[in-house]
Amino acid sequence: MQTIINRRQLLGTVAAAALSRVEAQPASEWGGPVLDIHLHPRREEGGELNHINGSGVTKAVLLSGSAMAEHARAVVAKNPGRFVWFTGTDVTRPDAIEILRKNLAAGATGLGEIKSHVVCDGPEMTAVYRLAAEMNVPVLIHFADFPQSSGEGTWNGGIIRFPAVVKANPRTIFIGHGDAFWANTSKDVPETPYPAGKIKAGGVSDRMLSEFPNFYGDLSANSGRKFLARDPEFAAKFIERHAAKLMFGCDCSCSDGRGAGQASNQPLIAGKCVARETLTVLKQLAPPALFRRITWENGMKLFKITG
Ligand SMILES: [Zn+2]
Ligand SMILES: [Zn+2]
Repeated sequence: MQTIINRRQLLGTVAAAALSRVEAQPASEWGGPVLDIHLHPRREEGGELNHINGSGVTKAVLLSGSAMAEHARAVVAKNPGRFVWFTGTDVTRPDAIEILRKNLAAGATGLGEIKSHVVCDGPEMTAVYRLAAEMNVPVLIHFADFPQSSGEGTWNGGIIRFPAVVKANPRTIFIGHGDAFWANTSKDVPETPYPAGKIKAGGVSDRMLSEFPNFYGDLSANSGRKFLARDPEFAAKFIERHAAKLMFGCDCSCSDGRGAGQASNQPLIAGKCVARETLTVLKQLAPPALFRRITWENGMKLFKITG
């Protein structure tokens, strides 16, 4: 009997500890926990934590290039339960795969974002897709076919050909992001990074989300925010249709999660925090259960985040 009571007391203590751990996290103004799958490391001390605390985000995926890898790892170590680390690098480097391997061994749990001036179906990216399958980690890709500024060039160009890549790599988990990913939700794709106006059904991004179980979408950045505003009726159906495939991310560069330091040259997000703007629109477009899937459940499950 004594043993049973002690065990009960112990369980009670464990439950209380678990509860206080939940309570210790900042209360979410978004009605539940939020996972931001697209945050980049900051140069100022504590900048990453300032952004997630300021924007009401519970946890974030920190996407670092090779130069900030050590920093990202330190941020994760310093803030247990608040961050996970994905590693990217310039895939045109001869030692790109070696760097990614090293960072995965050091604790990165995904690849991304991958953003280089290559085509999406060339040898550099094919090596990355193979590594992702081998290591059983997802790969987050920035697609852009039309420059935002003159001379910018393309990033992982040729998304229109990507269905063949996804099909050829069934063990690789792909996450699409960036201008071309969102522009190609429409079948009509004018030569501009941020197309406006009604969306024509049948775009390649939409088709890949429907057809391939290993293809997902990241709602981050100006491009994701603009997609949600471009044709709200289409967007509402799109997020419902791909309820299990879409994940919220911000890719915001403001310093405080409230818009400080944000550039003023982009409509919709000028002087604002992209995380806050996108979460606000998602809340308007999605019923609560769908909002929770996109802003929490899908990413937690796909990235196997347990802590
Ligand atoms: Zn990007
Ligand atoms: Zn922000």
